[in-house]
Amino acid sequence: MRCVSAPLRWHDLPTGDPQGLRERIEAGPNSIWRYAPLLPVPADVASKPNLNPGLTPLVKAHRLAGELGVTGGLYVKDDSGNPTHSFKDRVVAIAVEAARAFGFTTLSCSSTGNLAGAVGAAARAGFRSCVFIPHDLEAGKVVMAAVYGGELVAVEGTYDDVNRFCSELIGDSLGEGWGFVNVNLRPYYGEGSKTLAYEICEQLGWEIPDQIVIPIASGSQLTKIDKGLKELIKLGLVEDKPCKIFGAQAEGCSPVSRAFKDGHDVVRPVKPNTIAKSLAIGNPADGPYVLDIARRTGGAVEDVTDEQVVDAIKLLARTEGIFAETAGGVTVGVTKKLIETGQLDPARTTVVLNTGDGLKTLDAVAPTTGPTATIKPSLDAFRAAGLAG
Ligand SMILES: *Cc1c(COP(=O)(O)O)cnc(C)c1O
Repeated sequence: MRCVSAPLRWHDLPTGDPQGLRERIEAGPNSIWRYAPLLPVPADVASKPNLNPGLTPLVKAHRLAGELGVTGGLYVKDDSGNPTHSFKDRVVAIAVEAARAFGFTTLSCSSTGNLAGAVGAAARAGFRSCVFIPHDLEAGKVVMAAVYGGELVAVEGTYDDVNRFCSELIGDSLGEGWGFVNVNLRPYYGEGSKTLAYEICEQLGWEIPDQIVIPIASGSQLTKIDKGLKELIKLGLVEDKPCKIFGAQAEGCSPVSRAFKDGHDVVRPVKPNTIAKSLAIGNPADGPYVLDIARRTGGAVEDVTDEQVVDAIKLLARTEGIFAETAGGVTVGVTKKLIETGQLDPARTTVVLNTGDGLKTLDAVAPTTGPTATIKPSLDAFRAAGLAG
């Protein structure tokens, strides 16, 4: 299997005319391709039939803000509406363009679930797909990874075992045509996460928020959102201003949060045990960079228990009508905890990411959610249930 080097650009970053660039972006497609001039993709990418993730809603969360005591403006960037219902469609879309340009024929990945679904769906752009997941994922993630018709390999082990196994495969027995979106295509994959920063700022009227709460699995998304903000400033698309970046983990897989609290620069790997399976990476590749960004921006890395994750999923659903997957429960739960512990300023503009759809992690809330009453189809039974008032 071949390696590819750092991101190629097919064109130079447009400099010198921020107003012109803003207008060009605003007139572009309603997807990440409106930012094509800022991405390592061919200039004509937006005109091809393609995967069209992005430009997901930035929801002004009045009711959630009320419950959490946020007065400075609270927004949920809701990525559950992407084509395969997680933010992973963004990163895959860029990796696929690179795979095409490099002549790869098989798309692959090691995945905690959502990536496998996004890669499976992306293969319709003309690739074979063969993806690898841990054997104990949620049913919704497994079905979604399989339904697009590609090959799905469930490996007996954790994500970290799957990842290590894939590295061995890559070093040994694979043909030239294999492109692992999060291994040899990782430089491109990562660039897809920048579009979250671009969209958040554009949707706030080309302004950087004061605080962003981001989930951490490998930490790639968090580091690339930081990179995206810096690029917008450099290009003059937004005014320079400080933005505190907060990372969110589940307690059962919180190696980065642990290192942050202990004041360490390196992350000690853990064996994950949490319902937030999409974030269950015990040895996160970008952990040290996340620590650096959280400290440099004045943010923090925090974690919440599985019980708090479930409570937060329900809180977001009840207040905003957004049904988040466990990763969204992690960010909302951590936001609550950051406010309670005085680490996040409720008087400042805050954006919380929901990176996936609750329908994929029904198992997490099913045990504590169900019918208020189960009755016979009779008026008496309904009255007896005490719900008629
Ligand atoms: C993959 C994933 C993330 C973040 O992943 P990183 O590896 O940190 O970039 C966040 N939320 C969901 C739902 C995911 O699937």
